[in-house]
Amino acid sequence: MRYISAPWRADYVRQSLPMKQCIFCEARKRRDDRAATVLARGRYNFVLLNRFPYTPGHLMIAPKRHVADFDAAGPGARAELAEILRTALRVLRRAYAPQGFNVGMNLGASAGAGIAGHYHFHVIPRWTGDSNFMPLVGGTRVFIEDLDTTYQKLRPLFDQERRRRERAGRAERRTASLSR
Ligand SMILES: [Zn+2]
Repeated sequence: MRYISAPWRADYVRQSLPMKQCIFCEARKRRDDRAATVLARGRYNFVLLNRFPYTPGHLMIAPKRHVADFDAAGPGARAELAEILRTALRVLRRAYAPQGFNVGMNLGASAGAGIAGHYHFHVIPRWTGDSNFMPLVGGTRVFIEDLDTTYQKLRPLFDQERRRRERAGRAERRTASLSR
């Protein structure tokens, strides 16, 4: 897997955050989804934008519970995570037509996790040669799209996906009750 090389980024993220608070717990608690860049909330997990994106549409899926170890995730949370990941990939494909994705976790500070106490999946859309067209500003690669633009693009798509799942769920329940 070819990853964008940005070794300075972890330090940058660590330095720019007050040490005591957890960005995931803070975002989960906020009522204003847009301000918190929360794109979707499931039963066990939620989706939010990365404030220091590698590429536009770089988002994260995190459990609502503050847990460091993926092993601590229950079966419901794990199953839902897979569903949310699938939705996230669909949404990002529609919004950005990327040529590929990096999907993964950094578990533990030595593995490069910026926030080691609360595990999270990164979902990063990729294009061939994208590391070349990102300008380097103040030691950090940035994109031309601001966070709110990304949010406005992705939120309606996540909402659509939720409604589609709800319709499918209702149809499934109807079929189940008919066949009883
Ligand atoms: Zn947390």
